[in-house]
Amino acid sequence: MAIKVIPIVSARPPAPVFTGGELRDALGRTMHDLRISVTDRCNFRCVYCMPREVFNADYRFLPHSAILSFEEIARLARIFVGLGVRKVRLTGGEPLVRKQLPRLIEMLAELPVEITLTTNGSLLARQARELKRAGLHRVTVSLDSLDDATFRAMNDADFPVARVIEGIETAAAEGLAPVKINMVVKRGVNDGEIAAMAERWRRTGHILRFIEYMDVGSSNGWRMDEVIPSAEVVRTISARWPLAPVDANYEGEVAERWRYLDGAGEIGVISSVTQAFCSTCTRMRLSTEGSLFTCLFAQSGHDLKGLLRGGASDEAIRNEIAAVWQGRSDRYSEIRTAETARQKKVEMSYIGG
Ligand code: SAM
Repeated sequence: MAIKVIPIVSARPPAPVFTGGELRDALGRTMHDLRISVTDRCNFRCVYCMPREVFNADYRFLPHSAILSFEEIARLARIFVGLGVRKVRLTGGEPLVRKQLPRLIEMLAELPVEITLTTNGSLLARQARELKRAGLHRVTVSLDSLDDATFRAMNDADFPVARVIEGIETAAAEGLAPVKINMVVKRGVNDGEIAAMAERWRRTGHILRFIEYMDVGSSNGWRMDEVIPSAEVVRTISARWPLAPVDANYEGEVAERWRYLDGAGEIGVISSVTQAFCSTCTRMRLSTEGSLFTCLFAQSGHDLKGLLRGGASDEAIRNEIAAVWQGRSDRYSEIRTAETARQKKVEMSYIGG
């Protein structure tokens, strides 16, 4: 009896071949920024990001074998640069809890990209010099309050404000400047401190940015009435120190810039809830375990680790990344409703903030 040969069909259809040129997604957006989450772990339990009720002793963080090695990250970053990426942001979780991070930065510094890092600042004072030496260009430090009791309650790790400020000052002194300072504003929690934060960081050369509280992930219990719209932030500050709008530094800049008319510097507002900026989004995100996400509010990603560890060539990986970007049509913040906010989404600590 003749044996019928059944061809083995790979579970993953081959990605279409990327033939070069500027990469555009289904809505015409180009890819310039890559955010890399280097760990899903964090030493803070910020109430709006990693609430302790969920991220407790029973929470299963990724085992070391599941997370991308520095060599794997650097290889992917090189491929991304070949596709148009010019800026890399290391994030997490808390990127400074990943051991030997400067070694990764040294590897990335060989690429023609700006390298930045977002941190809670808790370990920054002791690592700033080494990060700079490795090739890091700038840092963004999250700081939600100057009031120690409020800050300790928001980070839910009893961490004091003073040590974050020490981190900011050390980073600036080491040349990781200008330092951007991110404040997530949540109604009834820290909205009374908008003016105090503005006053503290005016004339320092650091750039304070106010972020609207977002419905990221599925565990922070987000409600629209807890969002302080950026327009309200600008009104509050302007009432005391008049502000004027400033042009964006580049197309697709996330923060809208405002300068103090008295010459004390500038602030930024990031309005992903009240003024979505999906139409100019140029960001791709690589999760800690090597999944690609085209949106912070995505429900699932595209696995690259399987390709990396399965022996795929650079070209095959490049084609896969290009296909993911070209197929992209998400614009979550433009279509957000109370209903979508309840959908199961991937956590920010995993995907990278
Ligand atoms: N651990 C680092 C840090 O604290 O900056 C990096 C990761 S953190 C997820 C990145 C940024 O996302 C921080 O500035 C944080 O305040 C912000 N973030 C987290 N959850 C948020 C939310 N629900 N709405 C707005 N911003 C949020």
